[in-house]
Amino acid sequence: MNLTLDRQAIQNAVAGLKFRTQAFIDGRFGPSSSGQTYASVNPANGKPIAQIASCDIEDINRAVAAARRAFNSGCWSKLKPGDRKAIMLKFVERLEANAMEIALLDSMDAGKPIYDCVNIDIPDAIHCIHWHAELIDKLYERVSPTGPENVAMIVREPIGVVGMIVPWNFPAQMMAWKIGPALAAGNCLVVKPAKQTSLSALRIAELAAEAGIPAGVLNVVPGSGAVIGAALCRHMDVEMVAFTGSTEVGRALLNYSAESNLKRVILELGGKNPQVVLSDPPDLDLVAANALNSAFWNMGENCSSGSRLIVHRQHKDALLAKLIEQCHTWPVGDPLNPANRVGPLIEKSHMETVLRYIAAGHADGAKLVLGGQRTLQATGGNFVELTIFDEVNNNMKIAREEIFGPVLGILPVDSDDEAVAVANDTNYGLAASLYTRDVNKAHRVARALRAGTVSVNCFSEGDLATPFGGFKESGFFGRDKSIYAQEQYAELKTIWMQIG
Ligand code: NAD
Repeated sequence: MNLTLDRQAIQNAVAGLKFRTQAFIDGRFGPSSSGQTYASVNPANGKPIAQIASCDIEDINRAVAAARRAFNSGCWSKLKPGDRKAIMLKFVERLEANAMEIALLDSMDAGKPIYDCVNIDIPDAIHCIHWHAELIDKLYERVSPTGPENVAMIVREPIGVVGMIVPWNFPAQMMAWKIGPALAAGNCLVVKPAKQTSLSALRIAELAAEAGIPAGVLNVVPGSGAVIGAALCRHMDVEMVAFTGSTEVGRALLNYSAESNLKRVILELGGKNPQVVLSDPPDLDLVAANALNSAFWNMGENCSSGSRLIVHRQHKDALLAKLIEQCHTWPVGDPLNPANRVGPLIEKSHMETVLRYIAAGHADGAKLVLGGQRTLQATGGNFVELTIFDEVNNNMKIAREEIFGPVLGILPVDSDDEAVAVANDTNYGLAASLYTRDVNKAHRVARALRAGTVSVNCFSEGDLATPFGGFKESGFFGRDKSIYAQEQYAELKTIWMQIG
């Protein structure tokens, strides 16, 4: 991929953008059945980017019917593995050819730094589709160990029509983490992007169609979560819903399933992730660089954001000094300027929530050592300063609730055991990182931390080959990425044969 980050080239590309704003159902764009639209607003300046089709339940019904027709026809689900793979690889080519455009759409829609969209989100999204496509003709099925009178085959079949509900913080990437394995497994999909960020999803669906993915296999329906998201999850002809979003909405989805057809539900939810600096940390410059990345990458609007920095007291002051010294490497400002690493928060209302959390930090007695204010107000954007609180304890609101903003709390502790106990004292369990020089301790503590991904002496979510998902209230019954993701989009069937 050849993505340049020249500022003038970015401005020229933005000026030339054409937005796909209608629902993509059964292989073509069309308006919502009500004809209603809503504005997608640029969080960096508060101005509308485009008017998007505001779909309703009738549109969801049309999309599910199209997906059902496509599934039953076998045009995708019954393709030979190599043929399905070949079409998905063409899809990858179309994505690669249009990567810069998708990066710009996500940057403008979500306020994400273009630097990240170009270097992380979009390459990862494309790699995800590629990785799962490559797996299609490499997965073997099994024969179980029966006696000589029988043959028992254990096979996997696509589940059918799968609804996918994705959040606004990594629009294209979260969509890819879902559609890559689900398409590879032969399912037909109805994707409901977050209302704030539908532009990249609509363009991705168009590129899939251009690559030869048949009509009805990948539908994208934009609109309100409470209306069409809920309708998709309650639909009697949808066999599974894969969701990434808040724990609160995740709970509702389990009810929707129970109240409808017991569809399979996979939930990737929120986090309040610990970064644990033990009594023998490696170089504190390295720890600080990783801690800032973990806390402030994507404005802290990241499910795996390490918003609780739990530090052995003997290293706390030295580490805090390094954190403050390195903050200049995270400039806040216009996300389309490739020099900036922190953009605006997604919406004004969300920015106000983050500012209320900062006020709660003050009220609970935490010590503000950096930031704490709205900034760049003249832009009309939802910018908040990088914020660090010291002397946080684990009972404070800012230590217990997911803030989803650039707010880092430092929790001093007096022993390694206390550090692990504080790290695990949360309802969440998505990600954790730990820092130590002792390889034995690293193994012991990695096992002791109750989280789906634990990174040692770094901040990482692994790569495409590693599963990603949460323990406790961070997730339910599933993983994104890796062979495990692809397998979960298939039903297991036993075929038991008597040998005559
Ligand atoms: P959200 O739960 O508000 O929305 C997520 C999606 O659900 C959106 O598409 C929304 O329109 C839809 N939705 C809202 N109400 C619904 C309903 N009643 N029925 C069906 N769908 C509904 O979350 P968000 O604010 O968009 O995203 C932020 C959250 O996502 C954070 O909690 C974050 O931690 C989590 N997240 C988790 C992961 C992960 O992999 N675990 C990754 C990214 C984000």
